[in-house]
Amino acid sequence: MTLTPLELTRPASTTDALLQRLVARVPGSTGATWKLTEVYTGDTVVELPQSTPSDIEQAFTVARAAQRKWAATPLTDRLAVFRRAHAIFVDNARTIADLIQVESGKNRRMAIEETCDPPMVMSHYLKRAAKLLAPTRRGGPVPFLTTSTEIRRPKGVVGIIAPWNFPFATGISDAMPALMAGNAVVLKPDNKTALSPLYGVQLLEEAGLPKGLFQVVCGEGPDVGPTLIDHADYVMFTGSTATGRVIGERAGRNLIGCCLELGGKNPMIVLEDADMAEAVRGAVFGAFGNTGQICMHIERIYLPESRYDEFKNAFVAKAEALDVRASYDFGPDMGSLVSVDHMRRVKSHVDDAVAKGATVLCGGKPRPDLGPAFFEPTILEGVTKDMHCGVTETFGPVVALHKYGTVDEAVALANDTDYGLNASVWGGDVAAARAVASRIESGNLNINDILATAYASKGTPSGGLKSSGVGARHGDQGLLKYTDAINMAVLKKQVMGPRRGQTYDKYVEGMLSALKMMRKLRIR
Ligand code: NAD
Repeated sequence: MTLTPLELTRPASTTDALLQRLVARVPGSTGATWKLTEVYTGDTVVELPQSTPSDIEQAFTVARAAQRKWAATPLTDRLAVFRRAHAIFVDNARTIADLIQVESGKNRRMAIEETCDPPMVMSHYLKRAAKLLAPTRRGGPVPFLTTSTEIRRPKGVVGIIAPWNFPFATGISDAMPALMAGNAVVLKPDNKTALSPLYGVQLLEEAGLPKGLFQVVCGEGPDVGPTLIDHADYVMFTGSTATGRVIGERAGRNLIGCCLELGGKNPMIVLEDADMAEAVRGAVFGAFGNTGQICMHIERIYLPESRYDEFKNAFVAKAEALDVRASYDFGPDMGSLVSVDHMRRVKSHVDDAVAKGATVLCGGKPRPDLGPAFFEPTILEGVTKDMHCGVTETFGPVVALHKYGTVDEAVALANDTDYGLNASVWGGDVAAARAVASRIESGNLNINDILATAYASKGTPSGGLKSSGVGARHGDQGLLKYTDAINMAVLKKQVMGPRRGQTYDKYVEGMLSALKMMRKLRIR
């Protein structure tokens, strides 16, 4: 049965009392608010306070004071908070998913999967943090007489700017290693999706995170962003490439570090020997999972001529059979886009492609009968680079099929983009598929999978090349980026420079011989 939006009841956990408690965390001294809506219905669910520059400055003042105490807290005590938080997050996964669904309109399967990301990140860094943050003795320039120790010191207050597509994962997961390393965090979520990260902060405090250490400020990006960046010691940004450039410029002017996780135009290459049923199943997730609003999702599929029709027919049949509708249960395969504005943007990409000669194999239209921001799963053919969706990220359930003649041609087409976030290669011979993938200019490469294997491998850094970003999350650098490396050097006895009465010529001779000797003995 197809539900109409009017038949929907908001999940029972998302009571007005809970929503009011969450938004009460957001400073908003002028009383200005933003109407946060339930995407499926368009109804306002809560008025979200909007933070002024002075509210943001105050949030940093409080966070900075809390950070000093937190950094002085023994690491084992800091980590204990996240051990408790892990359990609390898992126990509250259903409520988190309820909030994510209300504010983003994604289907429930995707919402519940999103709730798993912060616990996975916590679990990984609970294993690695002590080792990464321990001082490392490196040895100095003169054997036995000098030492140099690498000390990791928290940056201070980390500003995190998060998008709406995975509001809980990007808002909370990226804060975990920052907090473990001894920093405070000031988070700016997207106005549309502030509820789930606010709930995450509440749960962290229930686990024992000191109050004040994790602040949330809200507002439109251009209003809030500059003050946030000007007061932060480091910025972690996830969002579009266009905004990433603005953030990077400002961070650069302030001489602070930043990590930019940006957009993609991700290719999938199907090789001749691929298991076609598996590849089609992967493509359905790659193109339509999270309603096509995953940064690593697939917007271009390259198929060998010999298997093009086989793939196309099966893929179109599966896309047409998808259960697309608004529901707070696990039934639907695909939910809504995040907003009517975004739906119009996606529609404009499809309309532009069609006007310039592309063919719609399925979908292609908004579905106001299902909810204000629904759009059909859409497969296009004949997309070229003079079309918007041929070059820029659509970020919706829209994918283009292309034929290739040789594997070299497929690789060249996959690389023919400014982006470099994710690529997926499918083939029966895994070694051959790896060899193809290794030629693609992308920060994430998945063989016989779309994205989950790479993204869920928290021990390996994940980031974008080219216009898809700077830096990475996950892996050792996902925590170390939130620290400064301090070089603490000790000279036990003064031996550098000429001895008394020694000419500088003699000293240089000795020094150069010592340099050769140390290289020979592999000491330095
Ligand atoms: P966006 O760049 O419009 O907004 C992202 C965040 O930045 C929001 O909180 C927004 O309010 C804020 N913002 C906007 N302008 C700002 C400014 N001038 N100063 C400071 N903050 C500003 O992106 P979006 O539309 O919310 O998100 C979708 C984009 O995010 C897509 O391009 C997607 O590929 C990308 N994304 C990337 C990753 C990744 O890991 N690489 C993950 C998720 C999403």
